[in-house]
Amino acid sequence: MRILVVEDDPGIAAFVAKGLHAEGYAVAVAGTVEDAERELAGDDVDLVLLDLGLPGADGEELLVRLRGAGSVVPVIVLTARAEVADKVRGLDAGANDYVTKPFAFDELVARVRAALRNAEQTGSSILEVADLTLDLLTKVAWRAGRRIDLAQREWALLELFMRHPNQVLSRAQILSRVWDYTFDPGSNVVDVYVGYLRRKLNAPGLEPLIQTVRGAGYRLVPVT
Ligand code: CA
Repeated sequence: MRILVVEDDPGIAAFVAKGLHAEGYAVAVAGTVEDAERELAGDDVDLVLLDLGLPGADGEELLVRLRGAGSVVPVIVLTARAEVADKVRGLDAGANDYVTKPFAFDELVARVRAALRNAEQTGSSILEVADLTLDLLTKVAWRAGRRIDLAQREWALLELFMRHPNQVLSRAQILSRVWDYTFDPGSNVVDVYVGYLRRKLNAPGLEPLIQTVRGAGYRLVPVT
């Protein structure tokens, strides 16, 4: 899951990004509406935390443009504007939720979880590739009828592979979606976690699913 934090205050952005990262989310930060739109065009944002008071265009303009373009990405407004009229405007403009500053991080992250849950319920909550099944709601993975317990990052990595079966994913792509921009691109964390995942997915009699593509990255190859 990748969250876009649209926030021009570097202190708040860093605090929120760090906290979300600790909860297992990949995070991107944008300081302006323009930067946010560039990120959103990349199509791998699962939720937006949106400040309203931004330099240049206001956060509300971004929200209106997003909804006008048919985007259903969950948006939680995170702002100092605490008047009832502001909240009504934000929600009417298409925000899924509205949190005012100062905020408690635990509450913010609970609202993030709730918004993601709602978004998943409107889509399908089960991902299936070959003999692998992920239940996105209960966070349970199965392979060939055997339940597999995954740590947060292993889960995020497997979900990414399952959303892109047969597609070669480079280490950089995996890093940016499962970890985030703060990670050193020279880090071997991707290889380490692919190793963990392989060990958990493999069992005697089962075909290996994650293939190394030399010089390019990894791909999930559904066995037939
Ligand atoms: Ca601001």
